[in-house]
Amino acid sequence: ALSVQNLEKSFGGKDIITRALAGISFEVENGEFVGIMGPSGSGKSTLLNCISTIDRPSAGEVTVNGVQLSRLRGGALARFRREDLGFVFQDSNLVDTLTARENIELALTIQRKSPRLIRTEVEDIAERLEITSVLDKMPHQMSGGQRQRVAAARAFVGNPTLVLADEPTGALDSRSSTHMMELLDTMNRVTKTTIIMVTHDPFAASWTHRILFIRDGKLFNEIRRGDLSRKEYFSQIM
Ligand code: ATP
Ligand code: MG
Repeated sequence: ALSVQNLEKSFGGKDIITRALAGISFEVENGEFVGIMGPSGSGKSTLLNCISTIDRPSAGEVTVNGVQLSRLRGGALARFRREDLGFVFQDSNLVDTLTARENIELALTIQRKSPRLIRTEVEDIAERLEITSVLDKMPHQMSGGQRQRVAAARAFVGNPTLVLADEPTGALDSRSSTHMMELLDTMNRVTKTTIIMVTHDPFAASWTHRILFIRDGKLFNEIRRGDLSRKEYFSQIM
């Protein structure tokens, strides 16, 4: 499980200080698919970056399966980043000079797996994310939706504990966006990977189990899907 306790993050120096996170606490169960929504500048990306250890919190703690992230150093921190974590950004952030296959392999190569295992894992994840036909293409030869699915494959390959997604459908048209959400939903159900997704889009958010609304770096509301149909849940998000 993931626990965020009294998390604070301020940016800046002596004169101007921006309080991006002003004391935020919540828990996420293993296997949950959680959405984060809130206005621009409310601290959503900063929150994901503190969970992923890209940013270091000013105060508070993030605990993943009992491990306090602020205590991780050196090899243990590197292992957390490469084995426990997957990240999907709004722009796919693929390496332009590598094929889809090579981009996905990168995530496994740093995990020091054998070439044979890497090959089968990449092919399995490609099948799940419906990108088998583009595996040997370069990013500029793919559609935006395909690039984003390759980015998702890179995040999920190797079975991380946690996948963080910052506006994964933000740059996609509605058809690719729906496809992406269906695949994230399937990955969550089949692999039981915990997903935390920031989104502005209520439609994308309607695939989650629960949504945390943040404002001014604080949690101000939370809704759960529970037994609601996706349509009913969607109308609560709007
Ligand atoms: P958006 O929806 O526009 O992506 P957000 O909710 O993700 O917004 P954050 O990027 O977390 O917002 O930013 C929260 C606040 O922290 C903003 O006021 C932002 O300007 C500030 N901030 C974020 N990163 C930095 C940084 N590296 N240095 C200084 N200020 C920052
Ligand atoms: Mg952001």
